[in-house]
Amino acid sequence: MRTGTIFLFAFLILSLTGFSQNKYAIVIHGGAGVMSKERMDETAREEYKAKLNEALERGQKLLDEGSTATDVVVQVINILEDSPLFNAGAGAVFTHDGVNELDASIMDGKTLNAGAVAGVRDIKNPINAARAVMEHSEHVMLSGTGASEFAKEQGLEIVPNKYFYTENRYQSLQQLLKKERERTDKDNTGTVGCVVLDSYGNLCAGTSTGGMTNKRYGRIGDSPIIGAGTYANNSTCAVSCTGHGEYYIRLGFARDISAMMEYKKLNLKDACREEINKLTNMGGTGGVIGVDQNGNIAMEFNTSGMFRGYIKSTGEKEIAIFNDEQ
Ligand code: ASP
Repeated sequence: MRTGTIFLFAFLILSLTGFSQNKYAIVIHGGAGVMSKERMDETAREEYKAKLNEALERGQKLLDEGSTATDVVVQVINILEDSPLFNAGAGAVFTHDGVNELDASIMDGKTLNAGAVAGVRDIKNPINAARAVMEHSEHVMLSGTGASEFAKEQGLEIVPNKYFYTENRYQSLQQLLKKERERTDKDNTGTVGCVVLDSYGNLCAGTSTGGMTNKRYGRIGDSPIIGAGTYANNSTCAVSCTGHGEYYIRLGFARDISAMMEYKKLNLKDACREEINKLTNMGGTGGVIGVDQNGNIAMEFNTSGMFRGYIKSTGEKEIAIFNDEQ
């Protein structure tokens, strides 16, 4: 056989097995919740969209350069954590006691390895700590001061709690305290998440949040819980959730979507829709983003808005906020 024929043959086999696939997709969210065009003026909308765009373009660049899904998830989430616009990292909501306590998790769909931190007060980028737990510890979830100690040992950036302070989130807490409301689902919007299919065919999902305004007693939501707020498995999908965490935990939301794809053979979109229906029937609110191994994506929610966007290697792209936007 001539050399040219051998190369052509090898190329065909690699293409057919998907080994050399360059197909990728990245989906992000910046939280779901009550949103209206009246309450969010054009300037604010543009500001959110510009930040979502910056995160997506960073992810796209990394994927074009051959980065892994895990690297992309972390670096994209870092952009959103560092922005005061979102309820993650700087800009996190306040607890009842007026401090910021952050949760994050990450899962690698190839190995099913996962890592999470919960209730941390001084780790600048909690998603990096979640990744360090996944890659450099024998555990899946670390909490509070223990998680901070581990993050320090790992050389991650530690900041004083006031680093996370934003005036508008603080005022939201004051309003809630004044009204002595028990339900705290008003100003939590802004949890961030990212799911990626990389060019090697691997999936990864990550979520980072400040939780819910006015939370008490060391409350932990779904975001750092693998199977509730975050899940990834190469044989099904990668998903990241945002919404009223207690419902997501009770539904085993993220894992249930994967299970419906595995056992009921639903496609990603239908599985996400069915899970959102379950959430609605229970009285919960929120949303979910997902990607599967073929680069199909989903962005489903039952609220009036969800900050969201995606980019595919095919060039398809969308950034949107409200439920009536394409
Ligand atoms: N799911 C988060 C929590 O319950 C909050 C959110 O996504 O809005 O902590």
